[in-house]
Parts: sequence; C-alpha cells; structure tokens
Amino acid sequence: MAQPADQFKKLIAHCKENGFIYQSSEIYDGLSAAYDYGPYGVLLKNNIKQYWWKSMVQMHENIVGLDSAIFMHPKTWKASGHVDAFNDPLIDNKDSKKRYRADVLIEGAVDKILAKADKEVKKARKRFGDSFDEKMFRETNERVLKYTNRGKAIIDRMNAALKAEDMADLKAIIEELEIACEVSGSKNWTEVRQFNLMFSTQLGNVAGEEGKLYLRPETAQGIFVNFLNVQKTTRQKLPFGIAQIGKAFRNEIVARQFIFRMREFEQMEMQFFIKPGTQQKWFAYWKEARMKWHLALGTPEAKLRYHDHDNLAHYADAAVDIEFQFPFGFKELEGIHSRTDFDLGAHQELSGKKLQYFDPETKESYVPYVLETSIGCDRMFLALMSHCLQEEAVGGDENNKRDVLKLHPALAPVKFCVVPLKRNEPKLVETAKNIFKQLKFSFSGQYDDTGSIGKLYRRQDAIGTPFCITVDFETLDNNTVTVRERDSMEQERVDIDGLEKLIGERVDMKGLLA
Ligand code: ATP
Repeated sequence: MAQPADQFKKLIAHCKENGFIYQSSEIYDGLSAAYDYGPYGVLLKNNIKQYWWKSMVQMHENIVGLDSAIFMHPKTWKASGHVDAFNDPLIDNKDSKKRYRADVLIEGAVDKILAKADKEVKKARKRFGDSFDEKMFRETNERVLKYTNRGKAIIDRMNAALKAEDMADLKAIIEELEIACEVSGSKNWTEVRQFNLMFSTQLGNVAGEEGKLYLRPETAQGIFVNFLNVQKTTRQKLPFGIAQIGKAFRNEIVARQFIFRMREFEQMEMQFFIKPGTQQKWFAYWKEARMKWHLALGTPEAKLRYHDHDNLAHYADAAVDIEFQFPFGFKELEGIHSRTDFDLGAHQELSGKKLQYFDPETKESYVPYVLETSIGCDRMFLALMSHCLQEEAVGGDENNKRDVLKLHPALAPVKFCVVPLKRNEPKLVETAKNIFKQLKFSFSGQYDDTGSIGKLYRRQDAIGTPFCITVDFETLDNNTVTVRERDSMEQERVDIDGLEKLIGERVDMKGLLA
C-alpha cells in the first residue's frame, strides 16, 4: 500500500492534472498558500456549499442566510478581540532565516517522543502476537509510560505558557528540547514573539491608522453585527441561527499542506442564538448534528473523531473539533464552539448600540448566547479528496489499475457523460448528442467522443462521474443505451426515456439531507 506521504503527493498531482486545483499564479512560480479551483474543482466546491447551505438553511425553519461584506468597520476587530489576541507565537532561526510557529515546533518534538512509545508498542505486539493487550501495555509498561507522560507534561506546560502569553517559557521549552531548524540544523533561535494573523489594507480617502482596514479573518463577525437586523426583519424567535458562506483571510505562518492551511480560504459558518443557560443542550445537539452531516456522505466513521479543546479561545466556554484523518494525520476539519455572549456583548459595549433580544415569554431583554459551527470549505474538499480518491486493480488485476474518485453522487462535479461507441458513425454521434442536449437541463454533464470507450470511462472515473451512457448500434434499433455505474463498473441496458429518472434518483441531495 502507498505510504501516506506518497498518497498525499498523488492526491495533489491528481487535483492538478484533472482540473480540480491549480497553484495560484503558477506562471510566476506560484504564490504560497493560495490556490485556484479549476473547472471540476469549482463544481465540487459548489456542491459542498450547496449541501451545507441546504442542510442548514433549507432544512431549518429557524436558520436564515446572510452574505455580509468582507470589509468591516475596524472597530469590529477590536471588539472581537482579533486586534489584541489573534496572534501566533513566532520564532526565527537566525542562520536559515526561516520562521516557525513556536507551538508547532514543540508539538513536532512531542510527536517524536510519542513515536518512541508507539515503537515500543509495535515491538511488543510482534512479540506477544494475538494475546497482546495494547491498552494494558500502554498503561503499565514503564518505558511507554515514561515517553507518554513526558509528552503530556510538555504539552501541558506549552498550553499554560500560551494561555499566560509567556513567550519566554515557550523559548525555554524549545531550548530544553534541543529543537533544531530543519533547514540549517542549528539551534540559534530568536526570542519568541506574537504575530497578528490579520491582513490589513488602507482606505483610499483616509490617511494613517484611522483608515486601516482588515480583511476579515472569519465570517462570524459579519453575522454578529447584523444580529438585530436579521432578527427584526425575519421576526425570528430564539433559538434561531444565521448561516453564511464566504472568504476569510489569515496571514498563516505555517502555510503548508496544500489547501489544508491557506492564507485565503472559504468558511461555512452558522451562529445559533440561544437563551443563556441553554448552551450545554445546544452544544450537544450541534456536536451530534454536525457529525451526522459528515457521516451521511459515506465518510468512514474511523476517519472522523471528536477532539475536545484543552486550551479554550478567549470567547468560548466549551469547544470541540471534528477531526478528520488527512494523509498527514488527524487534524481539525470543523469547530463547534459555545461562544457565550462574548461577541454580542463586546459589540454592544464598543458600539454603544443595544444588541439585545426581547423575550416575549419572560418579558425580559437580554444579550443571547451563541453556539457556533464553523467549517472550512477547502478543508472539506481536501477531506473528500483524501478518502474518495482510490486506486483500484480492476477485477483484481494488478496490471490493470484505475484511479476512481468515489464521491457521493450528489457531490460529483459531473453527473453523466454520454459517449458514442464509434465517433465516425454519424447516427451514433447524433443520438448521443441528442441525449446530452436532453439531460443537460437537469444535470451537469458532458458529451465526449475524443478517445476509445475504455479511455473515456477512465477519464470520467478520475473526476468522479457516477454514470457513463454509451450509445451503440442496438440504440438505433430499440432506443436503449448502456449505463455504466462508476463504482461497480456494472452496465445495464436502459431505455433512453428512463435516463433522467435513473440519474435523478441517485444524484438528488434529498437522500443526504434526510
Ligand atoms: P487551526 O487550528 O487549524 O489553525 P482554527 O482553530 O484557527 O484552525 P477556526 O478559527 O476554528 O480554525 O476556523 C474554523 C474553520 O475554518 C476550521 O475548522 C477550518 O476548517 C477552517 N480554517 C481555518 N483556518 C484555515 C486556513 N488557514 N485554511 C483553510 N481553512 C482554514
């Protein structure tokens, strides 16, 4: 089986070669951590957004949509805490001039320590065979305990230093662990200092600090400042939610791992406004609902897990991540945060405008609490690519392999492709083109006659097209075509008039939403 690193390289190459994702400004050698979505990428991304939007807005009478501006009044970011606290701790290696996130360096060193424990476990498993009890071994073996306890102690100390903004201690940890720069190999480090992740720009007609604008680092604040506008104009009663999809910008230091961490990315966020005191109930509700949303797509359960935050953000009283097993390990895909009244309260204070809800039942006014679900559209894209792109030996034949993108049909960029058995048979071509013309009203599809049938099938497998429709000589006699299903590769003969129903049933989002 391919190693995860090779698998990841293959995924990136597949995305480029098949028109899903290109490096931004590639002809100028690219701009790091910025990517462009190609023809199939944009279709898939739109389908992901549609699935999210429908499941949030269309399926909930009490959730409505919003599309707020990327630029917001600079005070927004003061109130939200982003001006003062949206920082990463940075450290530079003086010899290579390479910049790192201090916490990422420390976590990397801890991973190495924990890998030693894993190595002990692996050795023991080999020694004991079937009778091996991993849990017991991890809890009792002295060497394993030494490594895991050491790793945990370092992480605890790092979290405490991050919380207290103790940059000197972060530096001390890096020195004690004798961490070296991967480029220069030296341990010649600068001090650790805080670096704000917001991009700033300048208003055209105002000079100096006054005219300083930020590109939003999250879409959530556009929702908070519109809370009363939306509540009043849609006459919503608590609990209700506002959903938004849009671009966000962060000047990430460690911007690697393809579209996992970008400087410009897209978020799908929903802020659910609730009565104070009910946050635990709604936290549990959204935690479960969001996991179901992922599982409905056929994502294997073993690839998803919850991760509770040890280190809560300044605005949260509870937070959990849904993590996905990317080719480089389990990482955050989505966050569910109980944000209390932090944001509305802060905007109310700084703007001097009341952001309160009048509760018709209790006849009191109060600042609602907020439960947030926030997922990166690009990370979702990468998660899907990671587990849906598969290399398969056709019929078990290792010499006949295909790359197939086993996306849920409702998310597939192209739903069908019509091909004539022979491209130089005018009657076959005409019939095939007519089928395409008929189906394009309902689905995104293609007509293709630029290669042999086998080659065309492979091409469609690579972009995840669930159905290939072949027009052959029998079609001219009895109005039937063969329909080849992507995953099973099975072919069935279907009446042309039945095509729309057959495809429609499989690609409809209804099944997913239910
Ligand atoms: P991380 O810890 O990975 O930096 P975060 O906790 O800062 O992420 P949030 O602020 O909770 O992320 O943002 C919500 C979601 O937005 C994340 O779960 C992720 O899917 C997405 N996201 C955040 N930063 C990026 C980025 N730089 N590139 C792509 N997606 C991102």
